[in-house]
Amino acid sequence: MFPEEFDYHRATSVEEALELLATHADEDGDPEGGDADVAVLAGGQGLLPAMKARESTPDVVVDVSDLDSLRGVEAPERGGDDDADGSLAVGALATHATLADSPAAGERATVLAATAGEVADRQIRNRGTVGGNLVEAHPAADLPAATVAADATLALAGPDGERAIPAEEFFEGDGETAIENGELLTEIRVPSARAAGGAYAKKPHPASGFALVGVAASVAVRDWTVTDARVVASGATDAPARLRGVEDALVGGGADRETIADATERAGEDVDPKEARADATASGEFRVHLLSSYAERAVTSAVERATGRAASAEPRED
Ligand SMILES: Cc1cc2nc3c(=O)[nH]c(=O)nc-3n(C[C@H](O)[C@H](O)[C@H](O)COP(=O)(O)OP(=O)(O)OC[C@H]3O[C@@H](n4cnc5c(N)ncnc54)[C@H](O)[C@@H]3O)c2cc1C
Repeated sequence: MFPEEFDYHRATSVEEALELLATHADEDGDPEGGDADVAVLAGGQGLLPAMKARESTPDVVVDVSDLDSLRGVEAPERGGDDDADGSLAVGALATHATLADSPAAGERATVLAATAGEVADRQIRNRGTVGGNLVEAHPAADLPAATVAADATLALAGPDGERAIPAEEFFEGDGETAIENGELLTEIRVPSARAAGGAYAKKPHPASGFALVGVAASVAVRDWTVTDARVVASGATDAPARLRGVEDALVGGGADRETIADATERAGEDVDPKEARADATASGEFRVHLLSSYAERAVTSAVERATGRAASAEPRED
């Protein structure tokens, strides 16, 4: 199917993009902006299929894909003047492939880099952007859970200036986020504490590759003890779900397979099977059933990345 007719504008700067969004959001006289009248076009891997299926029918499309300033994955020099918190900054227009292949992300935000490499297929990873994936907020998308596991903060630019919001507060439901009309997601910032081990394990939908369920894990390990853990599920609920029972059971415990298996057994405790997402491919009960096994895989890989060693079978004495 072809999309409905729309006006197309190509922004050459963030300021121009914001101006275009403000101007056209107000065209229908609604000062808060029209209801999905204006759409931002980044990589087009979510928006264009939706427009062709007429699930999205914007009057105006603002193409931001030329905004090179939002494309980088950057880490300040360690010990440099701007290395205040050792954080990583991912431009909203960085593609999944750029993030997956970035040495800086591999070092400073392993959970994000590992997850980006699991999004869809190579073609989509080369076009689709991190920001588009997050704003689209598909319940079965991979990166929303990873940004929550990374404890990331999302930077938004809008008519009233900039604001930053924790990823955990950004995702509000199926396709629902805290972004407001006229705002542009510009950057994803990861604190240095999350440089630790990160990993993502997913059971992909057999046709689309989206997550039936996926689990993103970010852990810190000291002296073979897990000192910090964020474990977050995608696909099971409308917004990323922190598996707090698993996190609590991991922290203070050993970084070994036996302890990880015991802790991740609790993965189903935070998602009510009756409330979980259900469709023709998988029931809510099945999705919740899968969580323990995928949490175990993700946490084991995260621990191995944090320690640089294969996880031992049992708690270590040394
Ligand atoms: C066949 C197929 C398989 C897929 N499999 C997966 C998968 O396995 N895992 C997964 O996570 N995803 C998957 N996706 C989804 C896809 O990867 C994402 O939808 C895509 O990355 C979105 O990014 P984009 O740059 O293409 O966004 P666009 O399509 O350009 O935009 C998506 C939405 O975000 C808004 N938007 C984009 N950028 C910004 C911004 N900077 N600020 C404000 N709003 C913005 C747009 O207005 C639009 O509403 C799949 C998609 C397809 C078509």
